[in-house]
Order: sequence, then C-alpha cells, then structure tokens
Amino acid sequence: MRKKIVAGNWKCNTNLQEGIELAKAVDAVVASEGADDVVVVLGTPFTHLTKVVESVNTERIGVSAQNCAAEAKGAFTGEVSAEMVKSTGAEYVILGHSERREYYGETSETLNKKLALTLENGLTPIYCCGEPLEIREAETQNEFVKKQLEETIFTLSPDDFKKLIIAYEPIWAIGTGKTATSEQAQEIHAFIRSTIAEKFGEEIAEGVSILYGGSCKPSNAKELFANKDVDGGLIGGASLKAEDFLGIINGF
Ligand code: PGA
Repeated sequence: MRKKIVAGNWKCNTNLQEGIELAKAVDAVVASEGADDVVVVLGTPFTHLTKVVESVNTERIGVSAQNCAAEAKGAFTGEVSAEMVKSTGAEYVILGHSERREYYGETSETLNKKLALTLENGLTPIYCCGEPLEIREAETQNEFVKKQLEETIFTLSPDDFKKLIIAYEPIWAIGTGKTATSEQAQEIHAFIRSTIAEKFGEEIAEGVSILYGGSCKPSNAKELFANKDVDGGLIGGASLKAEDFLGIINGF
C-alpha cells in the first residue's frame, strides 16, 4: 500500500511566533480529528524548523524544509545545508518547487546536487515537477514532465529513488484558484507512474507516493484524492489555516 500524504508548504509566510501558533493548531486538530492513516508534513521556513519540531508531536507530524543548499558546507553566504536541516529534527525537504525553478534559477543540475545531499543526510525529498500554462495549452505536458524527471530523479539509483515523494504541481494551478480537474490530475499522475515503471519497474512505480499540488482545498481534495494515482497533496495557501489543512487531510 502506498502512503497517503498531505504536506503543507507555508512558503514565505508566517513570522516565527505565527508559525509556532499554526504548528500547534495543526497539531491539536490532527491529534483530535485527523485521519490516522495519513502522513502529515509541515513545510516551514528554515527559521521555524527547530521550534516547529518542538511544537508538534513528531510521531504524528513530520517537518520539512522548502529548499536546501546545493553544497554540503563552506563559503556560501546565506545558504542552509541539508545537514543543518537534518540537525533541527526535520525529516523532509521540498525540492524543485516551480517557484524555486522560476524565481531562483534552479536547474536540473543544481537540483541533482540538492537531491544527493538530502538523501545523504537521511532526509526525504519531496520532489516537485509540473508544467507552465503554455505547455498545457499546447498539450505537451507529458513530454515536459517526463524531461524534468529524466534530468533529475531518474538519475538516482533505484534504492534512492524509492525514498522519494513526488509532487505534481501544474504551475497554472498554483495559487491561482484554478485547480486541475480530477481527470487531468489522474491522467498525468498515471502517466508519471507509468514512466517510472518503464525506468525502475512496476514494483517501485507502485510504491512511490505522487501528490497533487495547485489550489487544493477542502472542497476539492476529496475528488482529487479519490483518483487511484493521486496519493495526497502538497498544499500552499490552504495549509496556512489549521481547519482548512485538516479538511484536506480528511479528504481521503
Ligand atoms: P497552492 O500552492 O496550494 O497555494 O496553489 C501549492 C504549492 O505551490 O505547493
């Protein structure tokens, strides 16, 4: 059975005090009402990691960074390494989010370095892929996403690949209020899974959780998660309110 996962991506939101409040609120609602079989992850700013780890029941809720440095350590002013992330008690790192690719020039080459460091430090990468609007309009999203996978996570060994979580996030659906339809999501998730099967075999493809991201909210989570190849969500805006996030967690 694949894991069902709902991961919040707080992005550049909440100061430390607000972040702690939010983490505590999520912890409380998940403890009392959250479906037990769903893995819950909070993707917080670097500055919040240690405190959020202290503020939640980490047996129930995992904590994630949203990025890490492409270098292990050294003279890279302003960077936060995978080892530093690990030392906070966080267990996950979101990598390759479209905002990082678009605004910070993240390439497949840098992503591969980050993937390697994340795995070396025993962290679980939540690897993001997804196409921009013009690619979707040209109906070439499968080719686009396949290329993203081939240049990055398909270069991993099968053993490392098994440790990943994948998030498919169509860029045109992120923060826009425009969600992929349930059919669109299932179609591309199935395509991603079959591409993984071609590369790594059926067993590995069947075992990897593929999350959907892009304007996922309590009102559409159920329909999206009902699809056989959608194993949960990576949630931006709706992860900033504990009740909304809980509504998504209970959307399976
Ligand atoms: P959104 O963001 O849920 O606000 O659309 C999703 C994401 O970027 O991970």
